[in-house]
Amino acid sequence: MSLKRTIQHSLRKSKSFLRTGSIVSENLTKVREALRTPCPDKFDSAIFNFTIDFELLWGNGNLGGSDHSRERRLTSASFQKQNFKPFLDMLSELGVDISWAIIGKLADHDILPSEQESFRPDWSKTNWYDDSFKSEDDLLWNGEYYLKYIKENFPTHEVMSHGHHHIDFFDKSVTLDVAQWDMITGIKSLRNFGFEVDGFVYPCNKQGYFELLKENSILIIRGSDNSWKLDTNPIQTPIGFWISPAFMSAAEIINLIDIAVEKKSFFHPWMHLNECDLSQNDIENFYRPIFKHVVKLQNENKIKNLSFRKIAQVLSRN
Ligand SMILES: [Zn+2]
Repeated sequence: MSLKRTIQHSLRKSKSFLRTGSIVSENLTKVREALRTPCPDKFDSAIFNFTIDFELLWGNGNLGGSDHSRERRLTSASFQKQNFKPFLDMLSELGVDISWAIIGKLADHDILPSEQESFRPDWSKTNWYDDSFKSEDDLLWNGEYYLKYIKENFPTHEVMSHGHHHIDFFDKSVTLDVAQWDMITGIKSLRNFGFEVDGFVYPCNKQGYFELLKENSILIIRGSDNSWKLDTNPIQTPIGFWISPAFMSAAEIINLIDIAVEKKSFFHPWMHLNECDLSQNDIENFYRPIFKHVVKLQNENKIKNLSFRKIAQVLSRN
């Protein structure tokens, strides 16, 4: 592990120790507890799904009461740009398919809502749809290159909708008009680009206007707690957990995967590509050993790597 990662992990351990008397991370303890919930009966083994939430610089959100700064958004996008190909190269070497939760803005960057359909939360000091970002390097804001690359080279990867402009559907400022425009436009933009879209991942995992999902032929979403919800339409998986090499080691994750296998539960890590740092050798030290372990277990029929679409199909069988 790199020096920076070693320091980050030691800091995390001492903070955990001060709070709880144990060096085990509270987040990972929560993941371990969530893995006690088994998958629905229709599955005969544990399930694995790895999702990348993909936004480039449009992934704005409420950070302690205000927007992400311009600098933060540019830095995040430049990491996503750098990591996109190396991450996909690793996945293709290992033969692992993943799911993507993609904002429609990456497929259609020109379409904008009317004033009445615009997201204007009171904590945001900026224009949510600020087009001045388009004067930056194309690969920081324009998703076409990335989406084409996925469509042409990774047709077995799944693409889900993550809304159009990364709005928080749960925010009190969101009216039906705002929600409708964003959800419909986001899903349509990806479908028009040529992707089959059956799944939805709420930005910030915060739900709102749930009934719009089925109106837009969404079959399944990432839920917002640890349970399976099979009596809602669309159905909902457990929320899974945010995975990051800054706070976790490959060994810790591998240990949790083994617990998922034992409990026949759903192992669902999700990330943004900016959390991977090539200068810290994160692909080799963190992601590759984790995926390799999943491939090994899959070959032993102990876990199945499934898309959200496939999960919905299995669950809809009589
Ligand atoms: Zn997001």
